Amino acid sequence: MNEFSELNDRYQSDLDGCSFETLAVRAGQVRTVECEHGEAIFPTSSYVFSSAAEAAARFSGSSAGNVYSRYTNPTVRTFEQRLAALEGGEACAATASGMAAIYAVAIAFLKAGDHMLCSRSVFGATTVLFEKYLRKFGVEITYVELLNLDDWQAKLQPNTKLLFLESPSNPLNEVADIRAIAALAKQAGALFAVDNCFCTPASQQPLALGADLVIHSATKYIDGQGRCLGGAVVGSQELIEQVVGVLRSAGPTMSPFNAWVFLKGLETLSIRMQAHSANALALAQWLEQHPAVVKVNYCGLPSHPQYELAQQQQKLFGGVLSFEVKGGREEAWQVVDATRMISITANLGDTKTTITHPATTTHGRLSEADRARAGIADGLLRVAVGLESVADIQRDLARGLDALKV
Ligand SMILES: *Cc1c(COP(=O)(O)O)cnc(C)c1O
Repeated sequence: MNEFSELNDRYQSDLDGCSFETLAVRAGQVRTVECEHGEAIFPTSSYVFSSAAEAAARFSGSSAGNVYSRYTNPTVRTFEQRLAALEGGEACAATASGMAAIYAVAIAFLKAGDHMLCSRSVFGATTVLFEKYLRKFGVEITYVELLNLDDWQAKLQPNTKLLFLESPSNPLNEVADIRAIAALAKQAGALFAVDNCFCTPASQQPLALGADLVIHSATKYIDGQGRCLGGAVVGSQELIEQVVGVLRSAGPTMSPFNAWVFLKGLETLSIRMQAHSANALALAQWLEQHPAVVKVNYCGLPSHPQYELAQQQQKLFGGVLSFEVKGGREEAWQVVDATRMISITANLGDTKTTITHPATTTHGRLSEADRARAGIADGLLRVAVGLESVADIQRDLARGLDALKV
């Protein structure tokens, strides 16, 4: 036992039972022989062995340790352990992006002849992955209304193996009853995966509500500062081992540098999410009383249809809201074009506030009828509220809203 392993043993054993805020700052860290205070980055593709026998033992798995960074990397492992601790899961697999996480889950748990249920309102690339690629391999996909439990129940089939949803939904902020859908999945013997990108574990922990898998685009709030792409899947040891199997063979793993950036992101996640949520609520309240605004979709407003469910299931209401301006596409575009500070981009989960017109960007591929059914009106705008002063965000939106003739 040397000084540094003693330091690590003392450190790790003290983290058991610590609160979310403490785990966010400290879980998963293993100090090296340098006794560094901050987490080390290991930018290495491979690892050396002390002998031929040790190399053979590592390859066969009889000796624990790193072999190659597509399999394991110490910085990535620290990120995985920290996120698993925050989601309340046994294990985590980090991926190159959020889409790589969704891809790995689909490939790990679905095969030809299987069926999955997916809520209608998921991220655009997720729909493309399912429709264009999963279907090609003989997987059946049925879309359901996020809020309609009868629809989830009615569309279950004997071969349903996976239920997948995002909550709150994008861009309408609809809140799914995760507990109730988890019960349906359990009854059907299917896995239930929740894309927790909008909430992050600082607000919502789907595993505690009965989900089997939590999926993240770390690109969004986990980084929170728009620097890196990454993703993750969290769940039981048994399920995550299967996801890791896909990642090792297919290769969309997280880079050590990105893992280090996400570690730093996790350290401030809780206070950032509180600030995003406070700003979003203030903006939603202001928008709701603006004469040029028909409707505000934000689950933190008492006028929101799932306000109570959101309060039960989430600690925070989050940073994303949408609102409908009087008129249609032309008026919505005028509000976008009148902004000077807010970034016109479809990204979200950044310190910088962003605005997008879903009907002509993120949801532009849908037919007019599908958009209408999904509730994406031509006058709808989505704002991912950042960490600027809310007074400045309001002023930037007021310029366009005040100019509309209503
Ligand atoms: C961005 C996003 C993804 C995809 O993540 P990438 O990191 O861009 O691959 C998946 N789901 C949701 C809800 C997202 O917002």
